[in-house]
Amino acid sequence: MTETCPNCGLPEDLCVCKDIAREEQQIEVSVSERRFGKKVTLVKGFDDEEVDIDDLETDLKKNLACGGTVKEGVIELQGDHRRRIKDVLEDLGFEKDAIEVH
Ligand SMILES: [Zn+2]
Repeated sequence: MTETCPNCGLPEDLCVCKDIAREEQQIEVSVSERRFGKKVTLVKGFDDEEVDIDDLETDLKKNLACGGTVKEGVIELQGDHRRRIKDVLEDLGFEKDAIEVH
């Protein structure tokens, strides 16, 4: 049986709710310094009811070839990825203009 989207009622493979939700996210990217001078890139601002954050974290780690974790709706990626993160998020369906990099 095909899964249908609870939002629009279409089969999952035809549904674009997820894409639309991604385009609407206002994302904030910042870099924080941790113990021993290690840097982590924090990606936040997601609506966790509309975006599967764990899924996104997996995609980001794969695209940026780094480790990472999710803490209270904030994605933490090891290293400073400010230079590339906008392009990667855009590839994943997010709106570039809605991404603020500090
Ligand atoms: Zn849908």
